[in-house]
Amino acid sequence: MYNDEPIFAPSEWKLTKQQEVLCLETRQIASSKFIDRAVKYDLEASFPTENYKDLHENNLMGICIPKKYGGRDADLKTYMLAASEIGRYCGATALTFNMHVSSCLWTGYLADNLEMDDEKRNEHNNLRGMHYERILKKGSIYAQPFSEGNSSAAGKSAFGTTALRTDKGWIINGKKIFASLSGHANYYGVLCTELFSENSPPSRANTMYVAVPSSQEGVRVEGEWDPLGMRGTVSRTLIFENVFIPFNEQLMPRGIYYNAAKQWPHMFMTLTPSYVGLAQACYDFTVRYLRGEQPGMPPIKRRMYPTKQLTVAQMKIILEQTKAIWFQSISEAKPNPSKDQIMRAWSAQYSVMENVNEIARLAIRTCGGQSMLKSQPLERFYRDSRCGALMLPWTAELCLDMIGKGALYEHGESDEN
Ligand SMILES: Cc1cc2nc3c(=O)[nH]c(=O)nc-3n(C[C@H](O)[C@H](O)[C@H](O)COP(=O)(O)OP(=O)(O)OC[C@H]3O[C@@H](n4cnc5c(N)ncnc54)[C@H](O)[C@@H]3O)c2cc1C
Repeated sequence: MYNDEPIFAPSEWKLTKQQEVLCLETRQIASSKFIDRAVKYDLEASFPTENYKDLHENNLMGICIPKKYGGRDADLKTYMLAASEIGRYCGATALTFNMHVSSCLWTGYLADNLEMDDEKRNEHNNLRGMHYERILKKGSIYAQPFSEGNSSAAGKSAFGTTALRTDKGWIINGKKIFASLSGHANYYGVLCTELFSENSPPSRANTMYVAVPSSQEGVRVEGEWDPLGMRGTVSRTLIFENVFIPFNEQLMPRGIYYNAAKQWPHMFMTLTPSYVGLAQACYDFTVRYLRGEQPGMPPIKRRMYPTKQLTVAQMKIILEQTKAIWFQSISEAKPNPSKDQIMRAWSAQYSVMENVNEIARLAIRTCGGQSMLKSQPLERFYRDSRCGALMLPWTAELCLDMIGKGALYEHGESDEN
């Protein structure tokens, strides 16, 4: 177990007691248990099942379930801080945990801070209790398969996965790619488009968010999973073929997800904590390695070389810049943020996802040849760090697009006459 300092020192970053406690819990469990198991999950591209058992036993599966349902009641910022401590020791566990936790964040903290009429609010409260009970009592794992390989996950078209309404529920048909936790989650939190007849045209306004039990007839996992990094996420392809689900498997009442996605853009930042943790891990490794203190390595000091000092300084500066913009952005997350706050969220997302890879690159270059052997975790950090910028809906490219347009155009402006 590493006796690491917190990524965000509670007194310096003015964390609440709840934030301090949850970060301590996640850091302790991840630094004592997840860190060693990460080697096997990466090598085998296998799912971190043992880590989920620990998360359940340590009462962390319901980190974002509201208190009145028996959960730990973390808001968006609190969850992000706690999750970054997991990413520091096992990126794949943190990333898959995010998919699970998102189902509780969307239905919990975010929904509770959205306007809803009484009827919808009651419906929502009735629906979510069942999901929360499964998670808290049975340790059920929820996945978050959105991506389809088209522009829907980028928020530019309706989801091709459809839910045809019938008298008793919906019939789901479609395909999701890169479905982390596939074959291991108990429920897939699927975004799909509700259809009222076989021929009705799909519309983004009819987006539904439903839980499909993994054991339901017609659910299939296919394709191989042998990627560069984040191998323990097991993000294979999910096929839904005439899968029936009853009405009570909705995660949010109809129409609410569409509003939530528009009003809560910071929600799309929840992929970042894994990579904030990874960035810190690369820096920590480098300092330990150059001081001759990295476990499993001979105690040879390399810290006296000016070029190595310079690179560590560059890494520290990039890390501090990344932490600062990320912390500010998650601190100001709220419904209907200002234009500046949204622009900062995109900038924070871009900074985390690109900088983590830059810090990993600098770490390997300055530590040297022995640091990138498979017996050391740095080469895994490097591979894992490459994945963040590719993740929709806020890939690094799409962030650049949105920031550039946002800087030069006000809402509704165009260059057409
Ligand atoms: C380790 C890992 C785990 C993942 N886990 C999940 C998961 O659990 N759930 C999930 O839903 N997804 C997950 N993803 C998928 C991820 O979010 C992306 O959807 C996926 O990487 C996209 O792959 P692609 O090759 O289709 O990307 P791209 O081709 O880059 O994007 C897909 C489509 O988006 C649109 N698009 C892309 N770039 C632009 C652009 N610059 N401008 C306009 N439109 C654009 C295009 O229509 C394009 O066809 C995961 C990815 C990784 C790497």
